[in-house]
Amino acid sequence: MLVTALLGMLVWLAGRYEISQVQGALERDTIDAVSDIRGALTRNVQSLQSLYAGNPAPKSWTVDAATLLHEHREWVRLEWRDAGLATLAAADTPFRTPVFDLLGRDNARTDVAVACATARRFNGPAYSGSYFVPQSDGLGVEVMELCMPLVTSGRLSGYVVATYSLQGMLSELIGKSYTRSQEVSFTEPDGTRLALHGSVRRGKRVFTAQQLLDLPGNTLVLRMDGWRGAPDLFPNVLTALVTAMSIALVSVLVLLGKDTRRRLKAEHALADALAFRKAMEDSLVTGLRARDRDGRTTYVNPSFCQMVGFSAGELLGRGTPAPYWPPEMAGEYQQRQAIRLAGNAPPREGVESVFMRKDGTRFPVLIIEAPLINVLGKQTGWMSAILDISEQRRIEELSRASQDRLQATARLATMGEMASLLSHELNQPLAAIASYATGSINLLQVAQGEAAPALHPTLADLHMALGRIAEQAERAGKVIKSVHDFVRRRDQARESVPARALLDDILPLVNLQARKLQVRVVTQVDEGLPDALCDRTMVEQVLLNLARNGMQAMDLPGLRERELLLRVRRAASAEGNRWLEFAVIDAGPGISDDVARQLFTPFYTTKTEGMGLGLSLCRTVVEQHGGYLDFAPHPPQGTVFRFTLPAASEPRSRVASLE
Ligand code: ADP
Repeated sequence: MLVTALLGMLVWLAGRYEISQVQGALERDTIDAVSDIRGALTRNVQSLQSLYAGNPAPKSWTVDAATLLHEHREWVRLEWRDAGLATLAAADTPFRTPVFDLLGRDNARTDVAVACATARRFNGPAYSGSYFVPQSDGLGVEVMELCMPLVTSGRLSGYVVATYSLQGMLSELIGKSYTRSQEVSFTEPDGTRLALHGSVRRGKRVFTAQQLLDLPGNTLVLRMDGWRGAPDLFPNVLTALVTAMSIALVSVLVLLGKDTRRRLKAEHALADALAFRKAMEDSLVTGLRARDRDGRTTYVNPSFCQMVGFSAGELLGRGTPAPYWPPEMAGEYQQRQAIRLAGNAPPREGVESVFMRKDGTRFPVLIIEAPLINVLGKQTGWMSAILDISEQRRIEELSRASQDRLQATARLATMGEMASLLSHELNQPLAAIASYATGSINLLQVAQGEAAPALHPTLADLHMALGRIAEQAERAGKVIKSVHDFVRRRDQARESVPARALLDDILPLVNLQARKLQVRVVTQVDEGLPDALCDRTMVEQVLLNLARNGMQAMDLPGLRERELLLRVRRAASAEGNRWLEFAVIDAGPGISDDVARQLFTPFYTTKTEGMGLGLSLCRTVVEQHGGYLDFAPHPPQGTVFRFTLPAASEPRSRVASLE
């Protein structure tokens, strides 16, 4: 709109300018024309004076006047009058019928008289007012008198009167160029047109200029009417050019407006599509990452950031090695990337790899990569979809572990069968050993005779050895029975046993091995402890097992402090009254994390001759009693294995416990 307004104003101003130019030219023309007329009139006065050179006679004057009239078409009549205004001689223009024929010259007497009176007063040429002289053809002529006093030797001798035709003045005294395209006229001050010359082509617009022609005795108004055709819309080339350019500008603006609207629409559509895509990317659980051909990260989605724990700002623009590459694998990854950048497409099903979170933890990922192609069909990089497969791995691991456990259980079951078979088979030889031992003792006693107060020392030793054999055979039988029961999962026979008694039972066997391994065995049982409620044989087996493990752990060359402590006290829990804690403490090298992780796994052992069943069995036994078994390092050196057993509700009497 602004441009249109400007354009309109420009055209209007240009038009105005053009008009003022035309008007100015016309005004100049009018001034020129007036000065033309004035000049011509002055010259005419001189011509008239020349008639009187050499005191002419009226006759010769007439001849001269006729010649002069021939040259001056603006005059219609010349007269020589005496001082009383009587006509001495007169000549009419040869170019038309004498003007005063119809009305007679007398009719104009007053005008002549006025002019001459003025002339006499001014002592120079003077003009009369113009007046109309009707002609015989029905038209008429507007004329004006010029009266010039003739002075001979300082005395007025007469007048020369020249009658001007106003029309003739216009056609003769003004340059032809003015009248060619303009209408020139004399008007009275009120606008009445007196005489007219030049053709007027009536256009839409007429320009008018007026100029006063001030003559002594008369004032005429010269009016010029310029004519112009329909005013041009584009008055000149410059305006036309500017207009054309403005139109072009407006068209460009219109086109631009249209284009902008289209663009806006496209932008909206694009923004919608982008928002859709973003929502899609943000909702993905798959990590997305784009890299350019130099390996710099150009895009990551929120899921990927979450996966690796780095913010998008920390990842974007980063080249290799990427912050999520584990440093120890950076070299390998770099190679892999070089292969990729060389244009070798990775397998479609993806590559498994390991990434590192910001906190340094590693996690397995599956990377599926595809080339990133731009609009021009050129590859600009790689787009990767990254799946965190740690959960998948964990499940796989779990199922593998459970499979292992299943196998172990199967082996255990077989073992159980074997143990059951063995115990059955061993029972009889053990019973036989016990019988033979008892029989031998009996025989010894018979051979000594009832009366013999004491045995021979050797025989006494033999008697004792046989007693021990019988005892151990019986014990072995019990162990076998317990194992049998355990394998059969029969409810163990729980009995109330003093803690000290449990230790005492195993001490002979422990000491046997301790002596061999040069270990000092120390027991420590708190005072006033309640009895333990347990399957005596199995718990003794547990203690024996732990003691044996501890001693074996201390079987290291160069180990000076070899002490095994067997300790019993109340459990340090809130329910301490109802639980006893047994601890087997060695001064061995301790248990490494690696071993600790698999300690209770059946068949796990670090010993060449070990079975790897001891600890897992121990735990099973303790857990069957409702207790727990654990271990911990025992500073400054060694390990403590602890397990709890339920206490019998009634503590035994102090005396009994001392037994
Ligand atoms: P085994 O004694 O037949 O090897 P266990 O289940 O009793 O089977 O023990 C498993 C493993 O635990 C042993 O091989 C040993 O490496 C480790 N271990 C057990 N007790 C101790 C201990 N007190 N000190 C160091 N290591 C031990």
